[in-house]
Amino acid sequence: MTRTLPTPSKISQPFWDSCKAEHMQLQACQDCGVYAFYPVYVCPECASRKLEWRPVSGRGTIHTFTVAAKATFEKEGPLVVALIELEEGAMMVSNIETSTPETLSIGAAVRVRYEKVSDDITLPLFEPA
Ligand SMILES: [Zn+2]
Repeated sequence: MTRTLPTPSKISQPFWDSCKAEHMQLQACQDCGVYAFYPVYVCPECASRKLEWRPVSGRGTIHTFTVAAKATFEKEGPLVVALIELEEGAMMVSNIETSTPETLSIGAAVRVRYEKVSDDITLPLFEPA
């Protein structure tokens, strides 16, 4: 089985474009400064509609994670599914690429690593920082 890939929508296309360019951007609220992920039409903090795309660092920490002994798609080794808290405050579900998942811990630093999986989609995965 191959990995199921995301289908960009009108609202998420800028996010996927930024991943393809290997410089991830997230929406930030021009009124309160909160970063939002997943892409939204309205700020989740103050309900403002004034959102703009801004580059983010790609650095974050592990909020929580789990290790699947075997992925359901072609992949060598265990699959780490994690909730990443980005430096800018937004939360993102992704995978952490590591051959030693037993060394991961909540609060540990991670950084984004881009993986081109098709002509249109580059996934923002993470690795220990
Ligand atoms: Zn806001």
